[in-house]
Amino acid sequence: MRAAGLYDRGMNYELFMGEALAEAQIALDQGKAPIGAVAVVNDAMVARAHDRVQESNDPTAHAVVVALREATRKMGRARLAEATIFVTREPCPMCVGALLASDVEALVFAVPNRVDGAAGGVIQLAQDDRLTRRLRIVSGIRCEEAEELFSRALPVEQTRAPEGVNALG
Ligand SMILES: [Zn+2]
Repeated sequence: MRAAGLYDRGMNYELFMGEALAEAQIALDQGKAPIGAVAVVNDAMVARAHDRVQESNDPTAHAVVVALREATRKMGRARLAEATIFVTREPCPMCVGALLASDVEALVFAVPNRVDGAAGGVIQLAQDDRLTRRLRIVSGIRCEEAEELFSRALPVEQTRAPEGVNALG
């Protein structure tokens, strides 16, 4: 897949996606899906995260949401109007909803998500004219490296635990 979307010429997409990939590698090393997210405000990385669903018993603690929480805490405000979020895989509907609620300006992802992607992979929640907010989207940044990480992750069927059981220990 080639990089696509509306670019900001001043933004170093490769650099910040590299940080998201590093976070994804940490997640992979912990037996999680290699999803890493980074929040960038004024050309500075203000948060870096991977998912914390299992250890925090929080089904909403996806990488994007954890990064948003960390970024708003560090910035000392509730919204991130000029922020760009980098994530290794196209986010789910909950995460796109959180990005919209945060007033984030742009979403950059490496690989599309054909399972539950909400930025065009399955549905397009990020750019729906019926909603009051929309995200600028750039996709395909460093996608080969992200694909390589996902190829090393266990298939979803093997990582998905039965009801109430933590398959990852
Ligand atoms: Zn999500």
